[in-house]
Amino acid sequence: MLIAPVPAAAANYSHHHRPAASVRMVVVHATEGSYDATVSWFRNPRARAAANYVVGRDGRIAHMVPDNEVAWHAGNGYVNAHSIGVENEGYTAVDGTFTDAEYRASAQLVGSLLQRYRIAADRTHVIGHSQVPDPFHRGEFGGWAHHTDPGAFWDWTRYMAYVRDYRAGRTPPPRPIDVTIPDLELGQTVTGLVAWNAVATGEAVDHVDFIVDGVVRASVTSEPYTWAWDTSLEKKGRHILTVRAVGIDGRSAIATVVVESNTPPPAAPGVSLPPELPPFVGTVALTPNLDGRVVRVELWIDGAVAQTVDAAPWTLTWDTSTVTPGEHTLAIRAVGPTGKAGAAVTLVQVQAPPSPVPAPRRR
Ligand SMILES: [Zn+2]
Repeated sequence: MLIAPVPAAAANYSHHHRPAASVRMVVVHATEGSYDATVSWFRNPRARAAANYVVGRDGRIAHMVPDNEVAWHAGNGYVNAHSIGVENEGYTAVDGTFTDAEYRASAQLVGSLLQRYRIAADRTHVIGHSQVPDPFHRGEFGGWAHHTDPGAFWDWTRYMAYVRDYRAGRTPPPRPIDVTIPDLELGQTVTGLVAWNAVATGEAVDHVDFIVDGVVRASVTSEPYTWAWDTSLEKKGRHILTVRAVGIDGRSAIATVVVESNTPPPAAPGVSLPPELPPFVGTVALTPNLDGRVVRVELWIDGAVAQTVDAAPWTLTWDTSTVTPGEHTLAIRAVGPTGKAGAAVTLVQVQAPPSPVPAPRRR
């Protein structure tokens, strides 16, 4: 267990030295952001809040408020006075953001606190922030601000088994199957092509799914479990990246990070046609000038699609004998990888083919 003293700002807790007998429970929280952001917020005097500990997804722990001082974390003065607050890096509303390394580090910390303060390792004494009574409204919970952390995705069964093991001086066994995303951190800003790796441990793995915002994008059946995620095909901003490792016996594990893409999505492709098109006769070939990434080019004649091309060379052909001679509207539409399209429209003249030379009459 790696615990670093990282003192919170003095303004964020009460400097009231409590006796050991006052510590009667542990309140479990979720940070709703990265470890670094949480630690720096608790070091900011404007926060007017802090927890005694912050646990990271990699298992490191910041000790921010001494155990014998009252940290402001629960939104209830009585609970603050009698508890130790433990923040865990992750999101209440996103499945898979808490890691096994984090559950173990947090449980080892809490197990040792329970032992030191002679507190039972049960859910009466290890509670979620969501279980803290609202001090001002009877029957409401989550402290005065009605927090819901750590939420339904916090695995209490696993956590309490770990807490009981560590409190009893045992190391909990490894999970039957687990998966991690070693190269991406919670809240990380990503750009361009992201090499997204998953590392699976435990039983033999049948496949690993790569899931973006809830949609499976790739399923990889052999190591290395990796998939290149092209952020230029996504909206700029927040994305939820989940890997799911499925074992050969069907058991599975997930891991999730929330990242921020700063890659602007590609602009619509540019399309242009030569300024002067000669009158069209017979079957004509047209190659538009294209700019940007293109996945499909469509030829439209008089408002209807006449041809679609899905690969370069983006050459379109049009049999003008299918229309009456005269003026027609020709449009070329180029569609980019995100569905954005550019178009060029022009009027063209279609001429009737010259009349064939009449065959000599037979006598
Ligand atoms: Zn909380």
